[in-house]
Amino acid sequence: MLDMKNERWLMEKYNALSDAERGEYALISLKIKRFRVFNRLYNRELGNALVEKVYEALQEWLQPGEYAAQIHLNYFNLLVRISKNYEEIFQYVIRLNQQIRDMPDERFHGKVFCGFGIYHLTREPVDFYIAQYNADVCRSECAERDFKNSHFDVYGQSYHDPVLRDYDLEQIIQPALQRGDLQLYLQPKVDLRTGEVTRAEALIRWIDPQRGMIPVSDFLPMLESTGLIDRVDLHTFEVVCRTINRWLRVYNKKIQISVNLSHCMFNYRYYFDDYRKIHEKYRTPKECIEFELLESIVLNQVERLRQVVDELHNYGFTCSLDDFGSGFSSYSVLSNADLSMLKIDSSLFQNESNPREKVLIRHIVQSAHELGIMVVAEGVETQKYVDYLRQLGCDFLQGFVFYRPMPVEEFEERFVRGNEKVRFS
Ligand code: C2E
Ligand code: CA
Ligand code: CA
Repeated sequence: MLDMKNERWLMEKYNALSDAERGEYALISLKIKRFRVFNRLYNRELGNALVEKVYEALQEWLQPGEYAAQIHLNYFNLLVRISKNYEEIFQYVIRLNQQIRDMPDERFHGKVFCGFGIYHLTREPVDFYIAQYNADVCRSECAERDFKNSHFDVYGQSYHDPVLRDYDLEQIIQPALQRGDLQLYLQPKVDLRTGEVTRAEALIRWIDPQRGMIPVSDFLPMLESTGLIDRVDLHTFEVVCRTINRWLRVYNKKIQISVNLSHCMFNYRYYFDDYRKIHEKYRTPKECIEFELLESIVLNQVERLRQVVDELHNYGFTCSLDDFGSGFSSYSVLSNADLSMLKIDSSLFQNESNPREKVLIRHIVQSAHELGIMVVAEGVETQKYVDYLRQLGCDFLQGFVFYRPMPVEEFEERFVRGNEKVRFS
């Protein structure tokens, strides 16, 4: 019997990758298709021999520093360096598939078909099981579509069966909501004049007991499309109200927290009744609550935007325009609604050496200020932008250069109980 490496071994290799290395790797979920049929048609011995042959073919395929393991029977995982370009991935999988299909063993030659799911790792650490799950999801989604041949799919680039995928997630998310696995995180907004933190954005995090933290982009679209986001957002809003009140009572500190208004809520005529009911229960100081409206949902709906903003404003809450500069930004949105804050999207802070970008940033800050609107720069990761934004008189900065989103308890410890602040040189 061949001694095949197992899941635990692969997980160790996975965990040993440095942040920089990880950015170059992908995790491939590979399954031999119709394995049960193969077993029945021939026999179990030959089935086992096939699995070993595939494992050998994979070993031959790997480059130094790349790994493969048998996870279960006819199911393997590979950790390989692979391009992010779809055409190159396509060529890669075709060659890998040939290597397996054309094994120099006439018992198997030309008889093996595989499914591949490819998940590119990022520099940001992701739990091994999440990477594996993501690779599995995109492999299994199109498994039935092309039953007779090999097939592959790349995570995040195309989904062939979103309904199936959503169905799976819906089964998991309901109990997760009840268990309280969806938790509130806060990302500080740093005052660029004083370095103090008296504001934050509320962001949701899904922490699964087995899988660890699940990326927002993996479940938020599903929450939106199923309408479950309303429940999550109203729950978040309630926690936010309670938290602000407690900090005021215990520490005598006023912290402003902004919440994201989802697409569904924005389009729902009576959305505000739900928020009002919760607020009436807690009577949180209204100036401590801000609603963030996404540029992408308000575009072309200036009339609706005005209604929503007026409703929130008349009640006493403030509003900000989120992701400004990310899409087809429209200055008419700024001139038509009573906004207090504008959030410049992270896409404008990607290339420090681009003088054109700087011109845009400067004009956005100036225009907003002339309209009496304050500005938050979002997604800033480098000191150079900090210096530039301070020089422009931008009001707040929310970005990894200072702080990542953190659990409420940590925020409390550092900025409410404590007085941590950023010191500018
Ligand atoms: P957003 O409202 O634009 O939130 C800011 C996003 O940028 C957050 O991602 C945050 O972690 C990320 N970010 C902040 N600073 C940096 C930085 O310096 N570098 C990089 N690379 N990223 C940075 P997150 O938490 O993954 O959320 C993604 C989006 O999902 C949010 O974008 C928001 O639109 C939506 N979202 C998150 N939580 C909720 C929620 O509770 N309700 C609703 N309706 N939407 C939510
Ligand atoms: Ca936001
Ligand atoms: Ca944003």
